[in-house]
Amino acid sequence: MDAIPLKTSKNNPEYAFGGPVGVTGIIVGLPLFVLFLITYITPDVHDILGNAFSFRSLLWVAGWFAFQAIFYLLPFGKIVNGLPLKTGKKLQYRCNAFIAFIATIIVSAILCWFYSFPLHEIFSNIIPLYVSTVIGVGLLSLYLYRRSLGKADVELSIHGTSGNPLYDFFMGRELNPRSGFFDWKFVCELRPGLIGWVILDLSMLAWEYNTSGTVSLAPVILTVYHAWYVGDALWFEPAVLSTKDIIEEGFGFMLAFGDLAWVPFFYSSQTQYLVRLRPQVSLWVILLSIGFHVVGYRIFRQSNLQKNIFRGNPKDVRLEGFRTIPTSVPGKDLLCGGWWCFVRHPNYLGDLLMTVGWTIVCGFGSLYPMVYYVYMFTLLIHREIRDEQTCRKKYGDAWNQYCIKVPWRIFPLIF
Ligand code: NDP
Repeated sequence: MDAIPLKTSKNNPEYAFGGPVGVTGIIVGLPLFVLFLITYITPDVHDILGNAFSFRSLLWVAGWFAFQAIFYLLPFGKIVNGLPLKTGKKLQYRCNAFIAFIATIIVSAILCWFYSFPLHEIFSNIIPLYVSTVIGVGLLSLYLYRRSLGKADVELSIHGTSGNPLYDFFMGRELNPRSGFFDWKFVCELRPGLIGWVILDLSMLAWEYNTSGTVSLAPVILTVYHAWYVGDALWFEPAVLSTKDIIEEGFGFMLAFGDLAWVPFFYSSQTQYLVRLRPQVSLWVILLSIGFHVVGYRIFRQSNLQKNIFRGNPKDVRLEGFRTIPTSVPGKDLLCGGWWCFVRHPNYLGDLLMTVGWTIVCGFGSLYPMVYYVYMFTLLIHREIRDEQTCRKKYGDAWNQYCIKVPWRIFPLIF
């Protein structure tokens, strides 16, 4: 049988993202886009941009990263095996991100309560903190690129070995960069960005209180949604070990920027909108938003759990009575029961319903909060289209049977 051509290899570069020119545009354009979004609703933008960089902010960002990194090394939480590498070896990871989250919240509360730490100043300094984060991401990506140069081929990602330095810097070359037990990609994947997102939200609430003497209901509710979503991701931290990011992608600018800068600063944009513009949001809209969040979360969580359980042990008693479709790939039948017989990507449906809840709690007075919704919608539709292609190629006829049994992809009767 002919070998399937690699997506990118030194001999046959088949570029994603428009190749070296496209990734140059992303490396320059994406950080500027987030800066634009943050400054768009900032009233005193000229003053702030004049102080867009400070060494103090750089130290804060470095300290934040160090705090989360050190926590990973502390002997709390279980050690989990990753999936087998190309060499057949399995790496071990410490899964204590949820404990790190709770510890960060407790330490922040103690600092605010007993040492009068000005939490609101994090938000007041959002631009220098963001600029410092982008500088940190650039330095980290250079370090990762430099250290990957001496590595053997089995330690590299096929997506980041085109031979074009700029493209490979962006895609990431080394699959599992480690300094001893410290795994750079795994630590960055969830902790500093996701926990940072919640801390940024909390500092926005503190800022609203500090500037107006009250805190509105809508941003409080949105912060609860975000903390809930982040807590859930960190609670199920071992699930990240089987994602494409960990198994397939090298660690370079793309993942580093996404994990460390994009998530906290862009994902908190709706909260920023609410505390700065303080739109009037009726109780009915808030209740509707809670409904979307709760229903969306239920679908998101249950469907992800059903698939994870099925992939771990297809005979698990919790899946009794669920239909399955046999495939020619050993150990990988398709689940056709529970949420997975409702639509083919119920977990994306749940995520998108939650995002509707998060967006309508911002009211209907501006298109600004819609930017986050449009992003999530595009991201998940694009992922679904790519995943559909991958699964059709991988499972062939079995996938076609699945499509006949479950005709809708994400939205029943629509798509
Ligand atoms: P999935 O968890 O849906 O993974 C897709 C894979 O699942 C497929 O490639 C296939 O892999 C397996 N699969 C698909 N259908 C079936 C089936 N019927 N039975 C058994 N296995 C099946 O996608 P993601 O990793 O993209 O997303 C995971 C979660 O993370 C989602 O809830 C998503 O909404 C969320 N997410 C959130 C983001 C955010 O920024 N907030 C970004 C990205 C994702 P195989 O057969 O090889 O096991």
